[in-house]
Amino acid sequence: MQSRRDLTRHLKIKWGSCNIEKKRIWLNLELAKKPINCLEYIIVHEMVHLLERHHNDKFLFYMEAYLPNWKQLRAELNKLPVSHAEWGY
Ligand SMILES: [Zn+2]
Repeated sequence: MQSRRDLTRHLKIKWGSCNIEKKRIWLNLELAKKPINCLEYIIVHEMVHLLERHHNDKFLFYMEAYLPNWKQLRAELNKLPVSHAEWGY
């Protein structure tokens, strides 16, 4: 399902994406210019997608486990134009 919100989100910069089948994570090299903790957030986020592809309770559980301050990091990154996408399924 494609909501209006998803549509606008995809127009923004993608910081990373994850191809679950190929177990491949793609990161935007622009992240190198961002604070290192933002980079960590994206990497952990994409790696959690290898365990759980959807942003559901299980996904949040893993985020809490691996990066307890992920909400703070996400807020920091959201001050910048941000997006990420999943594909390959
Ligand atoms: Zn995600």
